[in-house]
Amino acid sequence: MTTAKILEFFITTRCTLRCRECLCAVPFLPNPHDTPKQDLLRHFALAFPLYDRIGRVEIIGGEPLLHPDLAGILTGLLPYRSKFSKIRVTTNGTLLPSPEVIDAAHRAQEAGLDFDFLVDDYGPLSRKLPEIRELLAREGIDCRVDRYTGDCQRGGGWLRYGDFTLRERETEDQLWRKFSRCLCPRLQFHDTHDGVIYSCVYAMTGTLLGKFQLSKNEYVNLNDPLTSVEEKQRVLRTFLTHPTTACRYCDGFREDSPRFPAAEQLPKEAAPC
Ligand code: SF4
Ligand code: SF4
Repeated sequence: MTTAKILEFFITTRCTLRCRECLCAVPFLPNPHDTPKQDLLRHFALAFPLYDRIGRVEIIGGEPLLHPDLAGILTGLLPYRSKFSKIRVTTNGTLLPSPEVIDAAHRAQEAGLDFDFLVDDYGPLSRKLPEIRELLAREGIDCRVDRYTGDCQRGGGWLRYGDFTLRERETEDQLWRKFSRCLCPRLQFHDTHDGVIYSCVYAMTGTLLGKFQLSKNEYVNLNDPLTSVEEKQRVLRTFLTHPTTACRYCDGFREDSPRFPAAEQLPKEAAPC
């Protein structure tokens, strides 16, 4: 069986905020862009057949509501609904979903899927939150709000997986122990960006920043016609059982990892890390 509890599609590297500790390093990524809808539809057609079952599909960014074709992307998920039961769009509360996006959410509901928006509440930064709540309540669409304001930070705040430096002194035993304690493989979050499925968000972010290079059997390139479906499925299954090169640069994601206040903003001119 090839499964993921959550398959995330990182559809844009553009955002309305510039958070210092952004887990996807959005403010520091070169060439901010939206993945074109036609590419995403092709990635869906290549990705979903690899899985026997996915718990939930999440559309993330950056800020996914900035993507001009978000409605078409959501509708493009519907042909694969036998693989999953829920779609979630994660947003930072700065933008109101368009009427087209609301229509697409209704279409997903009519197709029998659960659909919700997860809105991160960053206090005054999430200035559209009251309007979003009101709109979604009026439209009969679920809205979950995760609060990160002042002393009320969900989970005690954000965590930093690492600073992308190689843990040179780490032994193989320590690496495997870290991996076995990491929540990422247990939570089975798979992250997809521009046609590549990564084992976790840190593996994706480090790759996009050029901090390390994963070996060929540590990610799945959906656009690679020379690798068989069976081999791609085998690699996806190893995400749950084997550390990758990324783990050698990471502190891991643990219940007791240090936490930081969410959404601290960078000055506009901040240099890349
Ligand atoms: S809102 Fe902040 S954490 Fe979320 S994607 Fe944008 S920069 Fe990153
Ligand atoms: S890189 Fe490895 S240790 Fe770090 S969060 Fe991902 S799976 Fe966990």
